[in-house]
Amino acid sequence: MKFLISLALGASVLAFGVVARGEIKIVADHNPNESASPAFKFKNVPTPSKNDAATNARFTILDGERDDNGGDLDKLHDGKLPSEEDEPAENFFSNAATEGGRLRVDLGKLIEIKQVNTYSWHPNTRGPQVYKLYAADGKAETFNAQPRKATELEKCGWKLIAKVDTRPKEGEGGGQYGVSISDSDGIIGKYRYLLFDMVRTENDDAFGNTFYSEIDVIGNDSDAGAGAGASEQAFIMHSADGYCEISIDTSAAPTLKDWAENGLAPVLAEWYPKIVAMLPSEAYTVPRQFEVMIRPGKGVAATGGARVTANSTWLQTELAGEAIGELVHEEVHVVQQYGNARRNSPIVTRSPGWLVEGIADYIHWFKYEPQSHGADLIWMRTRRNFSPRYDGSYRVTANFLNWVTEKYDQDLVKQLNAAMRQGKYHEDLWKEHTGHSLHELADEWKAGLEEQLAMPTEPKKQSS
Ligand SMILES: [Zn+2]
Repeated sequence: MKFLISLALGASVLAFGVVARGEIKIVADHNPNESASPAFKFKNVPTPSKNDAATNARFTILDGERDDNGGDLDKLHDGKLPSEEDEPAENFFSNAATEGGRLRVDLGKLIEIKQVNTYSWHPNTRGPQVYKLYAADGKAETFNAQPRKATELEKCGWKLIAKVDTRPKEGEGGGQYGVSISDSDGIIGKYRYLLFDMVRTENDDAFGNTFYSEIDVIGNDSDAGAGAGASEQAFIMHSADGYCEISIDTSAAPTLKDWAENGLAPVLAEWYPKIVAMLPSEAYTVPRQFEVMIRPGKGVAATGGARVTANSTWLQTELAGEAIGELVHEEVHVVQQYGNARRNSPIVTRSPGWLVEGIADYIHWFKYEPQSHGADLIWMRTRRNFSPRYDGSYRVTANFLNWVTEKYDQDLVKQLNAAMRQGKYHEDLWKEHTGHSLHELADEWKAGLEEQLAMPTEPKKQSS
């Protein structure tokens, strides 16, 4: 299927895309091999910028792989350009024989984007550019910050901005290309993230991936470079095993910055690999990146995809209490990713919400901070008219899981997790792994608890 707008290339061509909100304008310029120079001068496309909103942005490969013969992602926004037509180390390109990939640019905050400009240079088929540009503000409830290839972008908070294809109708199309995407309104939109869904230019041999030299994002402020500021916005660290990049954004809650960086961050870094080890499953790649956004809001916290949003107002009242543990709970959701199964196949069973939350609270209260007694008998005694239900969700289900695990099967949570991640949860699993049905287990657990709850607590010391 071919659905890309083909731009016939001469000296320069104007093409108009059809995307709502003004008209998206795609200008593509081509300097043929004989006239291309290291100056990257084009007739209509601006020359590459050294200081724009992409300069300090974070570039991430979401899907696909880099070719080690080329430069790393920094080459795309370091303002430096290749000095000759075939200089692999000064370009970024996807690995030979792969089908392009997905690249994300995180600008660090919402900015009004005026232009997105992309540049490439190669003497033959790796010169032209073929990609779709998407953008997101990251606010959609369904937002997925790291959608892989199979993920439909428009269903998870991304908007298609432009389809670019600068391949000529005939010939290899070698030379230098500049593409400038803008909007007739002056502003493409207010976005934080851009996503380049790149496609190779040909399939005749393994070397069809474009040599991208530079990507510029021009913001609306006159001082575009200052508009980026990704580094001053989010605090970035890695999980203890170095696997995952975790960022914490307190720009909307500056009073929590210290706590986030010195209290919360080390715990999330230490616990990510621990949680991953507690919830393994075959053929599953745990997110390599997630983000915690701390800002005033409602409720406590929520996780969608690999993005955690936490209410700073609530956290502020719990700094010495449940704040960190709550975010460990959300971190479990980042590792769980049970939604993937549903996205990838329509024939899956729904993971019960009480169990999803129960596992998160099980890890929070029985693994991370058992000493806080947040879900055991001590906590239950503080509840009025408490009646244990296995599907009571959160702490109550956590208690049930802990009890079944200790009494019947140490690996139960692992098994339930693996099944849910594949969209294969079924009530029979309990019987398979413990020899008892879910309801038998629930009845036994409940009876035991009620018996203990009915017993008088330690008699208070009488002073004499
Ligand atoms: Zn939860």
